[in-house]
Amino acid sequence: MGQNNQPSGFGEVELDELFREVILDHYRNPRNRSLVSGSDVRAEGQNPFCGDEVAVQLKLQDRHVGEVGVQGRGCSISQASASMMGELLKGKSLEEVRRLAGLFRGMLRGVDPAPAQLEELGELEALRGVRQYPIRIKCALLAWAALEEGLERYEKAKKRNS
Ligand code: ZN
Repeated sequence: MGQNNQPSGFGEVELDELFREVILDHYRNPRNRSLVSGSDVRAEGQNPFCGDEVAVQLKLQDRHVGEVGVQGRGCSISQASASMMGELLKGKSLEEVRRLAGLFRGMLRGVDPAPAQLEELGELEALRGVRQYPIRIKCALLAWAALEEGLERYEKAKKRNS
């Protein structure tokens, strides 16, 4: 700690030390990295500004998230956000997933979550400071925006097939 000569990968973003550590931990040790085969929901996103890329797969059980796969490369904010998202989604219903996406997006756009909502977002709270850097909000939202698109495609395909 306190070694400011190490490249942090945060760019211009200054964050609280504790939150920094949470983000760096996810960045360096991303969770649920394995590709999920036979997934129901698949999503990919790119952010040309940073060269960020993410891919997400969900395997569903009864409209709840079973297995999660998250892969990607890019800046620490985008990759940590994707990793935290994967952890948070496990066991959640698709409706909860959408609601959490809305809460997270709201937090980054300056809507302060109520304490209970903040608790629901778990480690993602660490990214709250990103909202002071509009250009990096896209990084933090990349995985979430991709996931929402993937969910939409999944629901549409389901409707077509029913
Ligand atoms: Zn980025």
